[in-house]
Amino acid sequence: MSVQLGIPVLRLARNDNHASAPGARPIGLPSALLDRFGRQATDMRLSVTDKCNLRCTYCMPADGLQWLPKQAVMTAEEIQRIVGIGVERLGVRELRITGGEPLVRPDLVDIIAVLRARHPQLPISMTTNGVGLEQRAQALREAGLTRINVSLDSLHEETFTQLTRRPFLGKVLAGVEEACAAGLGPVKINAVLMRGINDLEAPGLLEWALKRCFELRFIEQMPLDAQRGWSERGMMTALEIRTLLSADFVLEPDRRSRDGAPAERFEVRRRNAGTGKASGGVLGTVGIIASVSEPFCADCRRTRITAEGKIMSCLFSREEFDLLGLLRSGAHNDELVRLWQDAMWVKPRAHGMDHAGLGSEEFVQPDRSMSAIGG
Ligand code: SAM
Ligand code: SF4
Repeated sequence: MSVQLGIPVLRLARNDNHASAPGARPIGLPSALLDRFGRQATDMRLSVTDKCNLRCTYCMPADGLQWLPKQAVMTAEEIQRIVGIGVERLGVRELRITGGEPLVRPDLVDIIAVLRARHPQLPISMTTNGVGLEQRAQALREAGLTRINVSLDSLHEETFTQLTRRPFLGKVLAGVEEACAAGLGPVKINAVLMRGINDLEAPGLLEWALKRCFELRFIEQMPLDAQRGWSERGMMTALEIRTLLSADFVLEPDRRSRDGAPAERFEVRRRNAGTGKASGGVLGTVGIIASVSEPFCADCRRTRITAEGKIMSCLFSREEFDLLGLLRSGAHNDELVRLWQDAMWVKPRAHGMDHAGLGSEEFVQPDRSMSAIGG
């Protein structure tokens, strides 16, 4: 049985947190992606496919999802036009390519090469599960990819296979090393910790990342899995993650500005087992993305485009706007700009988990799963 991807049509809000503005976006505002709460989106997350070759338990059901038909997914040319509008008309300053798994898209390297030629100064990064990265890292770098994030939740073959339902740990590790060798650094590693499965690996993952100068970022598990198996009890909170790490390491908040980044960064020193105090210098940094327990919505700068060209102002947004549909209807760039601005204007104040409380009836899990949005 495969789970159907429920695509929400514009739905009415259930509470003020998600409510659309009374009236449209005022005229006379600067040409940027502004919202009602004074935030400006400058960081664009673009999904190039909904397909994936892993089945991470916190993201996808074992049988996968019903993939979009090819004609529903943005073509390379459509991606170029949409990114062009974001960068040239709407103040987008950085681009993250994601999915699904971006590496399963055969024309990925060409897409990046054209993006780079058109936007020489634009930082272009990519989030990938690393399967097949070994073979493509060099080409991606030559095409103009700036940097890479690789998702890796376990260094143990068995646990990795249990979490991703695929025996590909060796491929991912080879991919990470090759990305580093190709100059796609600083490499960031994304890890989701699941209670009772890989949570105790936290210090080991950090030790591994520090030795290689990778920046490890732990991401709190969010209720964005297609099979709706998320539970508050199953997720590891940022506080628990810091506690797990502090057995071996001393973490001190990084004094550099967070600058809208989702991860709270900490400088890491080794903990002396005898004294319990920090010993030696800073070994590197670790990030914790506490979307659930310590949300950072007030500083969010992200705008998202799904693989089929829908604008989502938030991962948890229950409204989406059909940018690709408008583009395919023959619309002028000015109309696309307007739709994008209108979509961002009604960005919710927050995702609702903080507002309503976890598990509260007021928090409604969105219909789309992480892989269908582009995390
Ligand atoms: N397939 C690529 C990958 O895994 O890196 C890119 C897409 S994936 C949706 C992007 C990121 O979202 C990954 O780092 C993944 O671990 C994370 N992710 C997926 N489902 C999640 C969930 N329910 N909660 C928190 N993070 C999640
Ligand atoms: Fe695929 Fe990434 Fe989701 Fe894992 S997290 S199933 S690799 S899209």
